[in-house]
This record gives sequence, C-alpha cells and structure tokens, in this order.
Amino acid sequence: MSYFDYAATQPMRQSAIDAWVAASGMLNAGAQYTSGRKSRSVLDDARETVAELLGCEPIEVVFTASGTEADNIAIQGLFHASTNEAGAGRIISSPIEHSAVRDTVARLEEQHGATVDFMPVGRDGHISDLTALDTPAAVATSMWANNETGAIQPVEDIVARAAAAGTPVHVDAVQVVGKLPINFHELGAATLAASAHKFGGPRGIGLLLAKRTPAPRPLMLGGGQERGIRPGTNDVAGASGLAAALKESLEQLEKESNHIRSLRDALRDGIVNTVDDVVVNTTEPSLDSHLHVSFPGTDGDSLILLLDQRGIEAATGSACHAGVNRMSHVLEAMGVSDDQGRGSLRFTLGRLTTKEDVKQLLAVLPEVITLARSV
Ligand code: PLP
Repeated sequence: MSYFDYAATQPMRQSAIDAWVAASGMLNAGAQYTSGRKSRSVLDDARETVAELLGCEPIEVVFTASGTEADNIAIQGLFHASTNEAGAGRIISSPIEHSAVRDTVARLEEQHGATVDFMPVGRDGHISDLTALDTPAAVATSMWANNETGAIQPVEDIVARAAAAGTPVHVDAVQVVGKLPINFHELGAATLAASAHKFGGPRGIGLLLAKRTPAPRPLMLGGGQERGIRPGTNDVAGASGLAAALKESLEQLEKESNHIRSLRDALRDGIVNTVDDVVVNTTEPSLDSHLHVSFPGTDGDSLILLLDQRGIEAATGSACHAGVNRMSHVLEAMGVSDDQGRGSLRFTLGRLTTKEDVKQLLAVLPEVITLARSV
C-alpha cells in the first residue's frame, strides 16, 4: 500500500507516541494536590515547548481538540469580541478556505447578520487582491496554505494590510505548522490555528495561538482552563504528543522538506510525461508536500477507487465533497472548468514516502486514467 494523503492526516511520529504514552497516566492538571501538580507541570512543559517553537508566549498557547475547533473559536470569538466600531459586523475572508472556516463564516452571516467580503483568488490558487482589507472589519481570516493545492497565501501582507485598518486577523495554519518555520509574534496575527495530526502528532488535539488582546470571546463556558478560551479538563497526553511531534518536525524540517520536494517533483514530472492531457494545479509558492492535478474526462471519486484497488491511497483533498461528484469550491474559485475540476486528484507526500511509492503510483496511473476516460 502506498499512502499519498499526508495532508489529510499522517502516521504519528515515534517521539509523539513515546511522549503520549509517558503522559497517558496523568490526572487532572487543574487539581491542587501532588498528582494534579505533576500533571500541570507536564502540561506546562508542552505549552512552553510549543511557545518556544512557534515564537509566542506560553500564555498565548491554547490547546484545543482539533484544528476545526481552533478555527471556530478564533473566528466566532474575534467577531463577537470586536471593538472595531468602524468595521462592526464585517468579515473578510477568501473563497478557498477549509470548511472549518468557510462554514463558520457562513454561520455568522446567516445568524448574526455579518456581511462578508471575499478577497479574490487567481487561476494559480493564490489570493490576488488585498484591497478588501483597506476597509475596517470585525475580523479577517485567511489560510496560510491551501489544503487542496498547497498554494501558500500572502498572509504576512494580509496581516500588515489589515493592521492598518485596525482589523484583527485569524490565520488558519493547519497545513503549514510543522512544515514551514513560523513566528507568531513576527507575523502579528491575533490568532492562529494548527492541528497535531497534520505534523505527526496525535489526532484529537489542536492549537490556537491567541494574543492577550484582542482575545476571542469563548464559545463554550466551563472551568476556565486555557484562559477560559477553551474550558474543559486538559488532555495532557495529547498536549505532550503534540509538543514532541512539533519539536521533531521543526528539527527535521530541512531534511524532510528536501526529501518530500524531490519526490513530489519526480511524481509531477512522471505524471506529465506519461499521461496525456494533464493540468497541474499546484503552482509556486506551494507546500513541498502537495501535487494537485486534473485529468479532464475523468471524475475524482472513480479515480480514488481505481487507485485504491491497485494499492494507492490518494484523495481529492476536499473532505466536504467526498462522495459527491462535483468539483470543489477551491477549484471553482480558481476558475477551473467543470470537466477539469471534476477529474482532479490531490497527491500529498510526507516523511515516510519512498521512491518505491512514487514508482508504484507512476506504474499504474496511465492505465487508470485510460480506464476512467473510457467509461
Ligand atoms: N484547516 C485546514 C486548512 C485543514 O486542512 C484542516 C484539515 O484538513 C482543518 C482546518 C481542520 O483540522 P482538523 O482535522 O484538526 O479539525
């Protein structure tokens, strides 16, 4: 079996498993007695490691249960906490956001009367015009890199431009944390979301980096953990696993990036050279891990099944459309034609991908595309 869906999730790093197991016996980090204090100290260590690796203060690290939860807390919380009177009720976003952001923004529009302006995206998958940011808003939100195409977005420019209008910015960095160096303070965003399972940590734990001010207004009420922004008894083992995975991914970043990029480039060249009529939708600047391709005259869901039967696991990259045969909102926003968009696949590579995996994929893909085009 060859796995090409690292952007969806990836195998846990051994260091994360070890840290998770070591902390799995921890009790309530909020308790005052000895076992509680011990648990608290393990949690504090994880928080400090994360803060040091991502360029922020430990108090700005909020552990959540997922990237989705971090996005929800940040966007809804900043919207409701907004003191930017000139921008009251206005949200700025992009049309290529993950559903964790996209559906949250839509909910604010439907239920809280928000007006939403979208920054446009070019055919290359990059946000192409930041003018919307010159008018104040309650919150602006942008992904750092797109989960389908891997296209890296101009978040530094977005944050700077929004700051000039007094607008706080949330950055969905779920695809980026652990893959590019990040310094939260230098970036200047109000909040940033990440998710451990995307960089080799456990599934079920995420991160929200949140400045002291403006802090998101909590969505859930409870025991006051995590500055009250994300109350609930802490998952200490999850936090330990997350911190260990982040540490390893940043220590290994250059080595892993070089490995992943060279295999990704070999895969792209191999596909272009062996399959007719291919459109490569991943354009630079992009994450090293991503290769998004369209095969006009096919449909993505059939390709997934045909590849799966031959031992290859790949996806379209658009979770919300899985099982529904239509093109994703990301490709639609990029202006991709219906025929191209429907026949698209995302191959994402990771630290355990081998030359053999790429060879195996290239050996079966031409036949799979011919078969898919013949029905
Ligand atoms: N944002 C982006 C860009 C993602 O790619 C994902 C997951 O695919 C999420 C948010 C949601 O993260 P999680 O799976 O941790 O909820």
